[in-house]
Amino acid sequence: MPLVAVIPEPNARVEVREVDEPDLEANSALLEVEVSEVCGTDVHVQQGRLAGVPYPLVPGHVSVGRLQKIRGELLDVEGRRFKEGDRITFLDVHRTCNACWYCLVAKAGTRCPQRKVYGITYGLDDELSGGWATHIYIKPGTRCIALDAEPETFMAGGCALPTSLHAVERGDIKIGDTALVLGSGPVGINAIVLALMRGALGVLCIGAPQARLDAAIEAGAHAALNIETHDDAQRLAWVLEQTAGRGADVTIEATGAPEAVVQAMRFTRDAGTVVVVGQYTDHGLTSFNPHIDLNKKHLDVRGCWGSEFSHFYCATQLVKHRPEAWTRMKLISYGLDQANEALADVSDGRVLKALIRP
Ligand SMILES: [Zn+2]
Ligand SMILES: [Zn+2]
Repeated sequence: MPLVAVIPEPNARVEVREVDEPDLEANSALLEVEVSEVCGTDVHVQQGRLAGVPYPLVPGHVSVGRLQKIRGELLDVEGRRFKEGDRITFLDVHRTCNACWYCLVAKAGTRCPQRKVYGITYGLDDELSGGWATHIYIKPGTRCIALDAEPETFMAGGCALPTSLHAVERGDIKIGDTALVLGSGPVGINAIVLALMRGALGVLCIGAPQARLDAAIEAGAHAALNIETHDDAQRLAWVLEQTAGRGADVTIEATGAPEAVVQAMRFTRDAGTVVVVGQYTDHGLTSFNPHIDLNKKHLDVRGCWGSEFSHFYCATQLVKHRPEAWTRMKLISYGLDQANEALADVSDGRVLKALIRP
């Protein structure tokens, strides 16, 4: 019988349970999980900080595994038929309807009200729908992608890679730009790699702790500053010093701290762009001066919610064709029965990327 690691309710410890194997509907599959991940979202889900989460829940929204059983037909985006034994990953967002106002008029599929996310808004009652498990039920309509790379290389990027791909796309980083990344967690580190790929000539990072700043430099950042030893004024002075007194062309905020959004605005040059991707959960209010920080600066501030199939697809292609940045990233693996330890290590920033190996 499949094993799952369950968060029974907010702030409860994760428990390993045995569950029944689902009956496969037409055009669905059973995936044998090789590796899933623990990210900041899972910490927030465990702490009950995310709205719309159905507990009990099996976390793990981005995973890699092999198709163990297929019922009916499962096709990739190029129309090729998957077969049993294939290694795949899949878009964690399911049921984007492509029929509602947001999907069709606004063309903003990540705001489709019908969408469900494996491991976040699907719970234990929705069959095997999280990656902290020996198996995942690939429901009909799930977008699977063949993975022609080592599972660890893809999972080094994990959910942070498609998220960062979306963020740098929203930031429209151009050849020659100086990009500033606030935050040195997985999204920040991936954003550094991708800003360079988009042609940024300088990438700065402000974050903590030191081990994560070392990872930022390893990922290609030209300079990094520790927030633990530099206050707001020192951070601003450092950014101006690195940018001929103007500020960054594009700033990606990936911190989870509301005040960092205001700092991002102040650290960006006049007529520059700020992308806010680090406020996935509600950490409260912050304030800014609309005249000085926004209007007079002629600043473009953009939110960035979730990721789309194109970002997942691009992530699989990047780790296949340009794997270097991700093979270098440090990973730590935990068994299903070590999920509590993994959550604590991610929550405290002791590890950059934690994987679950069921
Ligand atoms: Zn995640
Ligand atoms: Zn829709």
